[in-house]
Amino acid sequence: MNAQELMIGRGLMHLVDTHCHLNSEFFNMDRDDIVARARAVGVRQIIVPATKFRNIPKVLTITEQYEGVYGAIGIYPRYCADWQVSDINRLRQSAKHKRVVAIGEIGLDYSWNNKCPRETQHRVFAEQLKLAADLDLPVIIHNFSELCRLPSTHRSISAGMQ
Ligand SMILES: [Zn+2]
Repeated sequence: MNAQELMIGRGLMHLVDTHCHLNSEFFNMDRDDIVARARAVGVRQIIVPATKFRNIPKVLTITEQYEGVYGAIGIYPRYCADWQVSDINRLRQSAKHKRVVAIGEIGLDYSWNNKCPRETQHRVFAEQLKLAADLDLPVIIHNFSELCRLPSTHRSISAGMQ
């Protein structure tokens, strides 16, 4: 049996796309087709991570439109410059949605053109990791940094997660 048969013919493969920005406006014209093609090759679940508050409603709507499509809720490190203390509670509320299965897309991005200060990125990342731990949810991490040298506060939070 070749890979094609494994994926399509016999139904033996059960694939999960853990990181698919299906909410992007680039897919407004062919989102149905994209989901159908993914299913045809064995992708049974798709997780759509939010990246900012503004796209959370669309992510949640998409999870309700397609069977097997789930959401992740989080603020991407490029969009965290305006983070407010109360924002973690906004995320906590969104994460209660029945189709939310993870916290993400969160992380650190040290790209030269990321305007969000690193200190803010670390604070927002740590708060979201703690939220994930509180809710017993996995995380989807964006890493363009020295993530392996996380401060010990991050390590202790992530060590408690599976
Ligand atoms: Zn992403």
